[in-house]
Amino acid sequence: MTQDAFDGILGQPQVRDYLRSSLTSERITHAYLFTGPAGSNKTQAAFAFAQALVCPKGAKGPRGSACGACDGCSRAKRRVHPDVHFYAPEGASAYLIEQIREIVADVALAPIQAKRKIYIIDRADLMNVNAANAFLKTLEEPPEGVVFILLGRTRESVLPTIVSRCQIVPFRHIPPTEAAAIVSQNTGADAALARQAIEACSGSITRAIGFIREKGNARIHFRQELLYQLARADRMDDWQILQLARRLVEQSKALVDQVRTSLEEELEENRDLFERSAIRRIEARNKRQLSIKTLEYLHQCIALVKSWLRDVMAVAAGTPELVINEDFAEEVQRMGARADIARIGRALVAIEEAEDALDYNVSPETCLDVILFQVREVLDGSGHPCEPSL
Ligand SMILES: [Zn+2]
Repeated sequence: MTQDAFDGILGQPQVRDYLRSSLTSERITHAYLFTGPAGSNKTQAAFAFAQALVCPKGAKGPRGSACGACDGCSRAKRRVHPDVHFYAPEGASAYLIEQIREIVADVALAPIQAKRKIYIIDRADLMNVNAANAFLKTLEEPPEGVVFILLGRTRESVLPTIVSRCQIVPFRHIPPTEAAAIVSQNTGADAALARQAIEACSGSITRAIGFIREKGNARIHFRQELLYQLARADRMDDWQILQLARRLVEQSKALVDQVRTSLEEELEENRDLFERSAIRRIEARNKRQLSIKTLEYLHQCIALVKSWLRDVMAVAAGTPELVINEDFAEEVQRMGARADIARIGRALVAIEEAEDALDYNVSPETCLDVILFQVREVLDGSGHPCEPSL
């Protein structure tokens, strides 16, 4: 069987069937709300659907999907199609009203390459009342050919005025063993690596696949290096902890530099399609994307720290079979043997708090300092009080 864009909607057969049949029966509505927990593949599904909507052969492709072969498909697949737009909140924890105005203004313009324009709006649950009010009229009656795909964790978390204007498409929670199997199937990685990647990517299957497939295995190496350091954290002095935090921030920046290069290449490729003012807007958006990416890598780094502590806790609780970072089993065992479960629990809470502060513009160095000191305190078994949190 040939692969098509919808085959990439992993673990969600009902969603796949629903989207296929909407296309083949040409029942496309102008606003969808995909709801489901993090890691349920909503983003992947949104881009696959967008590809089918902008492909000139559309529903006539294999089994009611995009043709997969035309220039539009190729651009959509690489997420550089000029008529497929992706938005994520750029405020600390909400959409900025300017962002919504930008979307509303853009919607009024004609499509550049396709017959349709698709707006994928991530975390619609982070659209507050002001943002929603600026958006509702457009959401309700967009120009012909515009399709909104909103993504949200649950239906209840999105404002009712938005929900009532959308076709709801529910995504199921994918159980961890099934998620690992999907990642293995798609990457050829063994079950252990698949689980570690999912853990590092806070449960997202699609990002876990990207994590494993990444050119040069940069993030796999980053993970190993970080865990190697964490295995020694209990013997580090203050200076070594501070140095480690600096190094982690540097490495996140290096990973972001790779993204920068690919964004610049994408813009170059589409440059002839855009007017100068549009290019300026894209450049500004790319810049914001990069700061979002930087945060994503820092969160990934913290996800690894948390998974390390949970492993130590599993050993301390007498359930070593739950250890995820199996390649560091010996070190986890050593730390777990003398760790205090209640203290690890408190440290995990403190780490979550420090992590939340990242989204409020606390410097990454400060945040990682707090987190790494927590790790050392909890693992060195000396019973010192933990460092104050932020
Ligand atoms: Zn196509």
